[in-house]
Amino acid sequence: MEIGLEAEMPTYSGGLGVLAGDTVRAAADLKVPLVAITLLHRKGYFYQQLDKDGRQSEEPSEWVIEDFLREMSPRVSVTIEGRTVYLRCWQYEAKGVSGFAVPVYFLDTNLPENTEWDRTLTDFLYGGDKRYRLCQEVVLGIGGVRMLRALGYGSIARFHMNEGHASLLTLELLDETARLTGRQAISHEDIEAVRQQCVFTTHTPIPAGHDQFSLELVIEVLGRREVFTMPEVFCCEGRLNMTYLALNLSHYVNGVAKKHGEVSQHLFAGYVIDSITNGVHAATWTAEPFQQLYDRYIPGWRQDNFSLRYALTLPKPEVWQAHSQAKKQLIHYVNRETNTGMDVDVFTLGFARRATTYKRADLLFTDLDRLRRIAETVGAVQVVYAGKAHPQDSGGKELIQRVFQAKEALKPRIKIAYLANYDMDLGKLITAGADVWLNTPQPPLEASGTSGMKAALNGVPSLSVLDGWWIEGRIEGVTGWAIGDDGRDGGDGSKVVSSLYDKLERIVLPLFYGERNRFLDVMLHTIALNGSFFNTHRMMQQYVLKAYY
Ligand SMILES: *Cc1c(COP(=O)(O)O)cnc(C)c1O
Repeated sequence: MEIGLEAEMPTYSGGLGVLAGDTVRAAADLKVPLVAITLLHRKGYFYQQLDKDGRQSEEPSEWVIEDFLREMSPRVSVTIEGRTVYLRCWQYEAKGVSGFAVPVYFLDTNLPENTEWDRTLTDFLYGGDKRYRLCQEVVLGIGGVRMLRALGYGSIARFHMNEGHASLLTLELLDETARLTGRQAISHEDIEAVRQQCVFTTHTPIPAGHDQFSLELVIEVLGRREVFTMPEVFCCEGRLNMTYLALNLSHYVNGVAKKHGEVSQHLFAGYVIDSITNGVHAATWTAEPFQQLYDRYIPGWRQDNFSLRYALTLPKPEVWQAHSQAKKQLIHYVNRETNTGMDVDVFTLGFARRATTYKRADLLFTDLDRLRRIAETVGAVQVVYAGKAHPQDSGGKELIQRVFQAKEALKPRIKIAYLANYDMDLGKLITAGADVWLNTPQPPLEASGTSGMKAALNGVPSLSVLDGWWIEGRIEGVTGWAIGDDGRDGGDGSKVVSSLYDKLERIVLPLFYGERNRFLDVMLHTIALNGSFFNTHRMMQQYVLKAYY
């Protein structure tokens, strides 16, 4: 449903889309014959504006499609609410290190043949109501398969459903399979044949992340179909649950980190759920000063991310130099945008992600007096924030306002900036420019998290609650620090808060200000152990081995 290819293409909202883009880039590097399909999102996700109290307002994102994409000639159609809706698509080519291209196709219903409403179906990412979303999923799933066929992809070995949004593709494959055998009705063998073609990745344990539609709405949009009464396909008492549809019709299913695989296994008992931990595309998320450093000492790291394992031999003064450059870029941007007057020599925490309740952006501000005391007695602290709240997520919007309130309350001793309109460029600037990457999700709701991996590629260690990838990536005091001593402390209650302050006060700040050499050891291990592993080269190879073969 979303993909982050370039910051200026507003076709993504957060980690799910950025991961899709990084996956495509890794496939191009590794010459994996893959194509991706998504919706055009002419009006994007949204452009975020924040007033002086942190109240968010949204505007449609404006972008010039022809500047990024090439229109393709095929036209296909799908039936929605009994109408024929015509589709075209636009192509983007992700180029790998050696020039191999992976195409990404963006479906578009804005054609004069379509009704006014149908022309808007590929406008907004995660906008509109249930009906709008279901219509979009018809375009993505059913229209997507038809477009691929029209583009000449006659035999596709595997369909990878990245989240349940694309699950309706299974219905099109069932129809194709039945048609091939000259039958109208769908048989058990057809279901088995489709299962052999499909793999599914689930990305969140949060119920709102799993689309469900009433069967009434489904019948209005898709018409009445035989499969709606087949329990092997549709399961859930009068509802179409896109996750169950994908689970039922895939032969391989995975979560996006070990813990998330286990959590999903509990959530969906009766299915076998494996895990492949997410990664990030190393060359994309490594800031320029570190790219130059790696080019000098670890040539070939772009083709072979595993070679970042040799980062332990990087000369520390040059690592500090590269980090200082990346940090300067961030601090200058912050000061230019927000007039906060941040200091490049002051310890800087970074926190940027979608503003939604479980991410707990305000956890750091639970005890303002304690935070002030730490900054006054142990060492100065400044914090850079960014993140958009979904237009309908009032909890997320309140979270942004609470950060603004803390910003005012902590002035002038602790400087806090909240950067507006978080996107991939800002993500890169903040993950590379912070001294430590802060993450405080409510376990077990962070399926993986990837921004800490971006930080790791730039030598920036994480201070994070043990959830998602950090359970695998954290070696205490070596690659960063846990908040809460084990997963159980990451929950509610005051323990996690006091652990956060304790770690800052007793370990992280004294190390940063007093033992720069040992802080650099942590930076080197962050690159060598986590940068070399939590990348999409390793992830893509695992998908090839476990899911695509
Ligand atoms: C990496 C990235 C994310 C994901 O961040 P998490 O901390 O993993 O949630 C979201 N949005 C943007 C723009 C990103 O670059």
